[in-house]
Amino acid sequence: MIVEGKQICFSYDLGGTSFALQNVDLSIAQGEFVTILGCNGSGKSTLVKQINALLPLQQGELTVAQIDVRNEQDVWLLRRICGMVFQNPDNQFVSSVVAEDIAFGLENYEVPRREIPDRVQAALELVEMEGYEQRAPNTLSGGQKQRVALAGVLALEPEIIIFDEATAMLDPSGRQEVIKIMHKLHKAGKTIIAITHYVEEAVTADKIILMHQGRVLSCGKPQAILTNLELMGEAGMMVPMPVRLYYDLQQAGVHLNRCPLTDEELVEEICQLRSKT
Ligand code: ADP
Ligand code: MG
Repeated sequence: MIVEGKQICFSYDLGGTSFALQNVDLSIAQGEFVTILGCNGSGKSTLVKQINALLPLQQGELTVAQIDVRNEQDVWLLRRICGMVFQNPDNQFVSSVVAEDIAFGLENYEVPRREIPDRVQAALELVEMEGYEQRAPNTLSGGQKQRVALAGVLALEPEIIIFDEATAMLDPSGRQEVIKIMHKLHKAGKTIIAITHYVEEAVTADKIILMHQGRVLSCGKPQAILTNLELMGEAGMMVPMPVRLYYDLQQAGVHLNRCPLTDEELVEEICQLRSKT
């Protein structure tokens, strides 16, 4: 397991009366695409901030790529192995020139100067932003900004990339751009941890971790989690539209072979229904 956590508890108030995380067990395999799903305040951001030591581990165990997150001397290494893209693209830039912004991170990690231009270039190609080297980040679209922020992370060649609602502030096309790159990176072997409160974005994950009130409510394949009305209701989440339709049709006496998660699967199921009758 590349991320392994046991019985993690975290409280923001030092008295420890209210817990943002309670007895969280976590296990993520190398190369897995994991979506952490849950409504606002369920503890998603707190959990991933423990993974790259942006918040200290208070209780429990947590290792990331065999590094114990409590080892302060390993924090830099940890953050290099495990990069993070945040929600607001505007808060992630330190330079007013795209290439310099990406180079800055590399300089911080003391990457030899002569290697920097190639690494910057390779990272921009991965996010399909080559040609934008000299642009100012504030002249880019939201999706482009997030891809540049991601390039800054990728330049450090991380094994794990965390996206903390990185699509939440983007318009639909910007969101699609970022999601496409996430899947491309997954195919290239990266471990992806994507946080979202959009159920539609959880459909394609290898595994969903469903959170509610600081606890892991359930963990499993999208087909198992997203079609479970009771579980999703308990988490305060709506099920994807095709799932709702599946159950509505069932109530009306129309039984589909399996519960679809996407519009395409829904169409497929309905077509099979027609060919049966
Ligand atoms: P999510 O990312 O799922 O929206 P968070 O991890 O941000 O959830 O929040 C979990 C809980 O911790 C919430 O009750 C939230 O109000 C609380 N919380 C988050 N950040 C802070 C903070 N900096 N100080 C105090 N409480 C916080
Ligand atoms: Mg959050």
